[in-house]
Amino acid sequence: MEKMISMVIPVYNEQEILFELYNQLEKITKKIEIEYRWEIIFVNDGSKDDSWNIIRGLTKRDSRIKGISFSRNFGHQMALAAGYNTAQGDAIVTLDADLQDPPRLILDMIKKWETGFCIVYARRTARNDGWLKDIVAHLYYKLLHAIAEITIPRNVGDFRLIDKKVLQAIGSSQEPTRYWRGLVAWTGFNYTFVDFDRQERLAGTPGYTWAKSLKLGFDGLTGFSFFPLELAAYIGAFVIITGIFMLSYITFDALFYETRYPLFKWLTTIIYIFTGVQFLLTWLVGEYIGRIYMQQKQRPLYIVEQTTGEFENVFNAYSNWTSKSCNCIVSTHGRISS
Ligand code: UDP
Ligand code: MG
Repeated sequence: MEKMISMVIPVYNEQEILFELYNQLEKITKKIEIEYRWEIIFVNDGSKDDSWNIIRGLTKRDSRIKGISFSRNFGHQMALAAGYNTAQGDAIVTLDADLQDPPRLILDMIKKWETGFCIVYARRTARNDGWLKDIVAHLYYKLLHAIAEITIPRNVGDFRLIDKKVLQAIGSSQEPTRYWRGLVAWTGFNYTFVDFDRQERLAGTPGYTWAKSLKLGFDGLTGFSFFPLELAAYIGAFVIITGIFMLSYITFDALFYETRYPLFKWLTTIIYIFTGVQFLLTWLVGEYIGRIYMQQKQRPLYIVEQTTGEFENVFNAYSNWTSKSCNCIVSTHGRISS
């Protein structure tokens, strides 16, 4: 049986572009279908324009084109989630509807996937989203890179191909905020890139307002880093150490050199130290909250990529110990009887 390629396309008010997108995709699918089966899944994320009608029209042309429509705008990442949940392919490509992610790259992505890479990111060598967005994005990725617990490749958005086993591995996660590029990187499967120049959107207005982008950015930082929580610990430690130093100094001075310090100086120093203690306690509370937060995400504890030798049973990696389905084991050399 031929392998299948799924293409997932979130759509939010893209009526001006959908036909052109379809034309470009058609050229690609003509090439793809020589070797593969394919499907295109449009996810209409509560568009207020004619997008959904256009999508419905497109699905009538070809049964391999499918559409899902949300009741309202749930956001790009949720649209991706819906697409991933329904995609049947052995490889799933996600791309923007506005043609900023050129469909022709899909062919290169498939080639790299066939050489054994589970994740193929399209990496932009240039962004054309206006200088302010470019600078903010640059700084953001620097920060994320510095504090995230995993390496989330830079200059990649949500234009990527993933093998279906990457999806299976993420499968059990109950993460309410989906920062897909983080989750995909988090699985740790081998990855590579195809490079491209990201052009301006062809028509229409960006659905990603500043507010939405900020929220996405914040989801990335809080979802993959505890640094914001730990900040209180660093501040607390700094304040306490400097405070003790100050207190020792004036005590020493008062005892041995008989300098007289007014009462307010003693008080401020002591209050300063206690501010530090409060910071430390805040951090402690934060640690507990952080743990609860991690737990409710229910990410798999680990992902088994391969095993060797014979096993009676290899349990999956979910934090839900009782479930014994083996979704997380993605390939085995040895034999597993379960
Ligand atoms: N999009 C979406 N829901 C939203 C905002 C955007 O599904 O709330 C889609 C949009 O139709 C496009 C993709 O997500 O296919 C990227 O959006 P946009 O071009 O606005 O983002 P940018 O290119 O500025 O990152
Ligand atoms: Mg865009």
